[in-house]
Amino acid sequence: MTPAEFVARFRIDPAPIYVPQGDEEMVFRAAHAARIPLSLKGPTGCGKTRFVAAMAHALDLPLVTVSCHEDLTAADLVGRFLFVDNQTVWHDGPLTLAVRHGGICYLDEIVEARKDTTVVIHSLTDDRRTLYIDATGEVVRAHDDFMVVLSYNPGYQSIVKDLKPSTRQRFAGLDFGHPDRATETAIIMRESGLDEDGAQRLAAIGAQVRALHGYGLDDCASTRLLVHAARLIASGLPPTLACETALTSILTDAADSARAVRDIVALHIGDLAPAAAPAGASP
Ligand code: ADP
Repeated sequence: MTPAEFVARFRIDPAPIYVPQGDEEMVFRAAHAARIPLSLKGPTGCGKTRFVAAMAHALDLPLVTVSCHEDLTAADLVGRFLFVDNQTVWHDGPLTLAVRHGGICYLDEIVEARKDTTVVIHSLTDDRRTLYIDATGEVVRAHDDFMVVLSYNPGYQSIVKDLKPSTRQRFAGLDFGHPDRATETAIIMRESGLDEDGAQRLAAIGAQVRALHGYGLDDCASTRLLVHAARLIASGLPPTLACETALTSILTDAADSARAVRDIVALHIGDLAPAAAPAGASP
C-alpha cells in the first residue's frame, strides 16, 4: 500500500461527533506531542472508540483500528506472506501500516488478545519506537506520527486477563467513566435527534439503572444503550417499548432485575408521548 492509499483508506472524515467528558482532549494532544502511547480504561459503550476517532480527525492522523480477540496472533498485527499470482508477497498488517506511514493504531479491548501478541508492541512503546518483523528480518523505525492507543474495560475482564505491568507501564492512562447527567443528555440529543426532555429522561434512567449494578444486574447501562433507546423513540417507537427493547431485554435475563429496570423506565418515561415517526417510516 502506498502512503497515499494508506491515508485515503484510514483517514477519518467527516468529523465524528464527540461530546467531551473532561480534559481528555488536552491529554491526548499532549501524549501525541510527547510520543507517549495512551491507554483508555473504562466500561463498554462510554465513548472510548468515538473519542479516538474524534482525535484522529482533529489531529489529521489516519486511524487503524484492531478489535482484539483471543485468537489474534502477532502476524495478524504485523503482517504475513501471501501467495498472489504465483508469487509470495509480504503484506503489512494493520500495526505495521501505521508504524510505516504514520497514524494511530487503536487496539480495542487489548486484554482479550493473547499475551504473546501484546508483546509485539513493546519495542514500539518505549524509546526504541521500532518494529522488528521476524518473518522478513526488517526493522521499521516508527514514523513520527505513529501512536499506539489501547482500550480496555477493567471491571469486565477477569484478573487473569488484566494487562501485564510490563505492558501497562509503557502507557499514560486516561480513565473514562459514565458521563455526568448533563453530558449524557447532550450526547443522547446529538446522537439521536431526540429533544431535550426525552434525552434528560433517558439520562435519568441510565443513572438509576447503573445504581442497580451489582445488585442483581451484572451488565451496566451504557451510553450506547441509551442512545439506541433514544433512536428508537425518535423513529416513532412508543418510549416504553423502545426502552424494553434497547435496555431491559439487553441488560438482563433475570425476571427480578428486569422488573426493577422496568419500574425505573416507567417512573421516568411512562408518560412520555411517542415521537412523530420520521417521514418515510411505515405507520
Ligand atoms: P466504547 O468504545 O467505550 O465501548 P463507543 O465509543 O463505541 O464506546 O461509544 C458507544 C456509543 O455511545 C457511540 O457510538 C456514541 O453513539 C455514544 N457515545 C458515548 N460517548 C459519547 C461521547 N462522549 N460523544 C458522542 N457520542 C458518545
